[in-house]
Amino acid sequence: MSTEISHIISKEDLKLYSRILFFIELVIFASIYYLTKFAFEPFVIWDSILNLSAQIKVISFFSIIFFGGILHELIHAIFFAVFNKRGWKMIKFGVKIKLLALYCHCSEPISVKHYRIVAVMPLLFLVGITLILFLVTQYFWFILLSFLFCFTSSGDLILLFTLRKLSKETLIKDHHSEVGYIYIAD
Ligand SMILES: [Zn+2]
Repeated sequence: MSTEISHIISKEDLKLYSRILFFIELVIFASIYYLTKFAFEPFVIWDSILNLSAQIKVISFFSIIFFGGILHELIHAIFFAVFNKRGWKMIKFGVKIKLLALYCHCSEPISVKHYRIVAVMPLLFLVGITLILFLVTQYFWFILLSFLFCFTSSGDLILLFTLRKLSKETLIKDHHSEVGYIYIAD
């Protein structure tokens, strides 16, 4: 007999772990920033390529954060669509008004192994690209973006942490209303 078990991450836990992650991530990104500055010269001088005004820089920065947020959910969705048997039609997008956050929800179960990939891909992609851009240009805003994309993936990291004890073949799906998931235990 198999039973469905809900694992909900409470708002208090989310807040607490997000704060802890904020400081860990801050230390990591600040270290990368300073070590890079001392270690080598930028390969590409960003300001000489794009001689943009301060206003354009600010607008671009916030646009990248906004579109990065959409891309984050889209990446979750692409991997959900690849891994679930019924494809795109099981995937829903929405906005959590209270948290001012977008979400992507898949109602078809997938294996924990695939769920981990779904959770980690937006972080790898968005943090990866901005970090590479920072490393080659040493342009401060790229490391700031990288840090922000990492921080906005904190929920996914917390989720990954809570999955550590589940076996990789266990079937799991998003919780329909709360932050968390439902897995099927034998
Ligand atoms: Zn996410």
